Amino acid sequence: MRNDITLFEKSITAESNCFADDFYESTFFTGNGRMGARGYIPFEPSARPIQTGLFIAGVYDEIKPGITDFVNLPTPIWEQIKMDGKSPTLAAPIKRTLDFSCGVLSFEYVLTVGEKHLNVLHQRFFSMSQTSLLLQRTICIPQTEMHVHIESGIHTACCNCPIPDDQVKENSETIQLTMEKNTHFYDNGFTSNFATHVTNISLEQQISFRTQGFGKGVSFHRAGDAVGMSFDVDAAKNQTLFIEKAAALFTSRDKDPLITPLSSGWSFDGLLEQEKVWWQNKWQLCGIEIQGDAQTQAALHYCIYQLIVNCSARDDTVNIGARGLTHTRYKGCYFWDTDLFMMPFYLLTDPCAAKSLMQFRVNTLPQAKAHAAKMNNAGARYPWMVSYDGTEQCESWDIGASEVHITADIVYAMNQYVTATLDEEFYKNGAAEVYIETARFWLSRYTPEPNTDKVNLLFCKGPDEYCGITSNNLFTNVMVQHNLKLAIRAAEYLRQNNFGQYQKLGISEDEIQTWECLHHAIKLPQDPVTKHWRTDDTFHLLEPVDLSTIKPDAGASYHHVCFDRLQRYKVIKQADVLLLMSRLPEKFTAQEKLNAWEDFEPLCLHDSTLSFASHALFAAQNGLVEPAEHYFEQALYLDLKEVMGNTGKEGLHLACLGETWQAVVFGFAGLSFADGSPKLHPHLPDSWTSLKFNFIWENKTYCAKISADGASITLW
Ligand code: BGC
Repeated sequence: MRNDITLFEKSITAESNCFADDFYESTFFTGNGRMGARGYIPFEPSARPIQTGLFIAGVYDEIKPGITDFVNLPTPIWEQIKMDGKSPTLAAPIKRTLDFSCGVLSFEYVLTVGEKHLNVLHQRFFSMSQTSLLLQRTICIPQTEMHVHIESGIHTACCNCPIPDDQVKENSETIQLTMEKNTHFYDNGFTSNFATHVTNISLEQQISFRTQGFGKGVSFHRAGDAVGMSFDVDAAKNQTLFIEKAAALFTSRDKDPLITPLSSGWSFDGLLEQEKVWWQNKWQLCGIEIQGDAQTQAALHYCIYQLIVNCSARDDTVNIGARGLTHTRYKGCYFWDTDLFMMPFYLLTDPCAAKSLMQFRVNTLPQAKAHAAKMNNAGARYPWMVSYDGTEQCESWDIGASEVHITADIVYAMNQYVTATLDEEFYKNGAAEVYIETARFWLSRYTPEPNTDKVNLLFCKGPDEYCGITSNNLFTNVMVQHNLKLAIRAAEYLRQNNFGQYQKLGISEDEIQTWECLHHAIKLPQDPVTKHWRTDDTFHLLEPVDLSTIKPDAGASYHHVCFDRLQRYKVIKQADVLLLMSRLPEKFTAQEKLNAWEDFEPLCLHDSTLSFASHALFAAQNGLVEPAEHYFEQALYLDLKEVMGNTGKEGLHLACLGETWQAVVFGFAGLSFADGSPKLHPHLPDSWTSLKFNFIWENKTYCAKISADGASITLW
């Protein structure tokens, strides 16, 4: 647990005595959705090619046949500083500030060589309005006269250390996934071209400099290390020197229309003004006002900022990795984390971004069909974890093969999108087919029970990955029923509105009937005596254990108990039944929800970072204000205070950020659209005297306000 970041309404700041700190590098991540970089300092005395790099959404390379890793790209952030020809050391703590009112990340520190001191300020931002651009400025002020030498360019040695899916394994082998093709220098800049080895994605980095105080830049090219220009000056005391660097990055798979060339008359301040306007507009729409709890509001703004800068909002060839653009954990893959945990934020604040995320799932329907066929099933089955090409990337046989719920989760999210936006085109030309093909998959995935008219979902794992391989996971079965209902409705819609497509998909009345029958044949596990809902068919058979004996600290218990043993204890990794009840609340009575909370909450280890926020959401939705506040606190600060001890090592947890936002909007504010129009059913924490936020629903923007005077929704 860390407690060293100071929060302000729209910024965070921290001080450290060393250049490298992976916790700050995760938490001070900044980007523009299309690309981003961890919060490392441009100047570091020793190179860390794994930790410093840059990520562009969709740039993956194969590390073994069919398996990709998220490429840690050559970084144009890199700089080297020398004072009087010598390498300096740090004379005072480094102050980092991430200002989310304009997206600027800055580092302020003092370097020293002997008695001489140099004040340094680096600032950088990834442009939201021109997503090809990264701007960086280094301002130096010598405290005495000295020679200042700065090399600025691209560190080309960045590499990956592929992380195994198995969380208890470590890898120490590094691999460089990009090769430099060529570099061309020109006055005040240069262009370098790179390509990935196997996927052959090309990357062009155009670097331009503007300087003050320095002599003319001199080019250098050290193959396998760095390429750039060096700048020298015999500086006077208190002379202000600066280097402004603009990096324009293009790849061979660019789709975002905001990828634009750098204009010739660019300046750091000029482009920054443009960003300030962008962010001002964004915050007006997305900001959340909490009176009575400034710290919570600030931390929530941090969550919102990171959700925005980790989503490539206009490119439907990519999605959002479990760690966004902040780390290579899980090989940068996309999970149900996007569809169930992050999507609602985009849907209600930026429906175009939500469409792009959903369109990615439509675009990868052919891969989902191929995956179903490979697994000897019909229809379409979405793989558990995918990168840009939509094929299964999970290498652990049990999780990938049995965590089938993702297919129904994607359908759930698509329906949320269609309902909230009334996007009939998307429904007609994409979603409907997804619903139908996934219904076909489900029909082939259930096993008829001998001598009954029931079916069983065998060999499955629900969201709770500690339940072993089980059968009839309640979450999955209810989500599948939801999926089937949507397929039946979609088939009917196509029959009436797009008969050509109906025929092309080969739908028949008989087939629709089979989905109806399947819906009724699915078994929902329930205790025969108490009628409480069960997680699955076997959870109640597991061995009770004192949770504290297997989870001695905040880290996950699999670091202490082996997976095999864990799967036989009566413990839960993350919200499962409770998650289901928060996603389809209308399917359960208030009493059933209360029973489920009493049955499952005490057994949950919260070994997934998805868990705290789901518990906060469920508790807030159901008026359990005290536990809601407790879990919300854990979720809100999960990364900002490294609650689970893995933020530095693994990057930011995007699903937790999204679910934390949902805990406020759907939980504490109780926003719901159950009967077709937005309604509030608030349960605010005592310290919040009021809560105010905007949301977009059916193409209109609304403002929700909750205070002692009551709750209201008005047009914004
Ligand atoms: C969780 C999954 C999640 C994955 C990526 C796992 O630890 O159990 O539910 O999708 O992490 O965030």
